[in-house]
Amino acid sequence: MPYIRTNENELNIPIRELGVPMYYQRLQMVLAALFVAFLLIACEKDKPELGDADISILYTNDEHGWIEETDFANGAAKLMGKWKDAEAYTEGDGFLILSGGDNWTGPAISTWFKGESTTEVMNAMNYSASTIGNHEFDFTVTGLKDRIDQATFPYLSANIRLTGTDSIPEFIQPYIILDVNDIQVGIVGLTTTSASYSAFPAFVEDFDFIAYDEALESIVPKIWDGGAELILCIAHICYREMVDLAPTAQALGISMIGGGHCNELISEMYSDDLALIEGGWQMANYARLDISFNRDDVSVTQMSATNGANQNSVADPEIASIVSLWHSATEQALGEIIGYTSAEIPRNSNQMHNLVTDSWLAIYTEADIAITNSGGIRQAIAAGDISKGDIVGVLPFDNRIFEIQLTGSEVVNCLGGDLIMGGMTSVGGYRHLDGTPLKMDSIYSVLTTDYLYIQDATNFHLYDSDPYDTGMNYHQPTVDYIASLNTGASNPLNNYLDDEPRR
Ligand SMILES: [Zn+2]
Repeated sequence: MPYIRTNENELNIPIRELGVPMYYQRLQMVLAALFVAFLLIACEKDKPELGDADISILYTNDEHGWIEETDFANGAAKLMGKWKDAEAYTEGDGFLILSGGDNWTGPAISTWFKGESTTEVMNAMNYSASTIGNHEFDFTVTGLKDRIDQATFPYLSANIRLTGTDSIPEFIQPYIILDVNDIQVGIVGLTTTSASYSAFPAFVEDFDFIAYDEALESIVPKIWDGGAELILCIAHICYREMVDLAPTAQALGISMIGGGHCNELISEMYSDDLALIEGGWQMANYARLDISFNRDDVSVTQMSATNGANQNSVADPEIASIVSLWHSATEQALGEIIGYTSAEIPRNSNQMHNLVTDSWLAIYTEADIAITNSGGIRQAIAAGDISKGDIVGVLPFDNRIFEIQLTGSEVVNCLGGDLIMGGMTSVGGYRHLDGTPLKMDSIYSVLTTDYLYIQDATNFHLYDSDPYDTGMNYHQPTVDYIASLNTGASNPLNNYLDDEPRR
């Protein structure tokens, strides 16, 4: 407990040196003892004081492109401000900034640019490594390679193999060894094994995502052999999986598992020698792990984990200026023309309802049914050129698409109110659009919004308590679908639309 010992010395020395009467000496000693007791409580026994640790890790995950300040998350510039002010972050100086993956796919400022803006901001924030999450594949493998080339830090994963082989794809680095405060720190990445279906399947069809323990057992000995003195694992996996992996990590001498994917806040000592951390998401929170290291024994002597919130800070000016440039670029990009319609598509029309729900299923091909609310559609598409900004105006909310699993009868029990549907109709019985009846006992993959999921009126949350957050704004598939049709004056969008009522 170096912190406590230091303060005991500071308090004892003046008492000995002053030579004051015994009464005052005793009073001082009592006060000193009270002060030490207060410090013990205030500092939560055994927790290294900021600055005492040899390595301090600042950790985020599931940033999902929320680099800009919004109503519900304060963005990258204020996060860096918070780290500098409240966490005493200084570049170098034993600090290591790491990410648990899913850096992008979220708001337009990130998504229009296929994550480029997020990676630029993370470069400026001096991240040392990110793991590869499922969303790193959202803009195809080429898109991921572009970000890897752009990043000044590596994207790591030790459990991705070329399908049917034991080969790690050439563009993927499983681990890195960094010198941090004269300690050789090995960092190994892991990608959720759900990536084979939680990423767009076509984008990951060339890869197998092998078991986490198998991957670590094959790679970690090489990291030790490569000269690492301490090993950290950054993993795009949920808490439950982190706990399952902990015994393997302990056996391999790994000191930390950082998580991701489930957007959890975790700062837990699984044991004296293994910390589990995760930093929430959207850069709204983070985790911190302080590690004290004995260079003589080459061993960790103490660790302490906490979580923090990106609140009450002043924006870092360098990061703020980068975000502001991307904000302007986003406004310009939204003016891009993506299609053409020769007639207005009215707001509350069958054409509009079917366009929105059909576009979700066209882009998110593994889902069977799409359900959203007509109230989430806010304006018509005017005749003429269609810009991205027009579609953002039609579907303007920061709603994300959730994927849930429902039986046919549960789907039926969710419908009603202003809900509209794709992949099925309720006209003339509950049927798929090819006429085959919905099977009441079969499980269907259903898309809806995070907004509707939590509404008491919809029942979605009653039937599937574990929704998958695609991280995709609800207007994104409609933009992508319209753009993919390459419409024009001779081939207008309205020619593609289904005008049949589905309810
Ligand atoms: Zn994920």
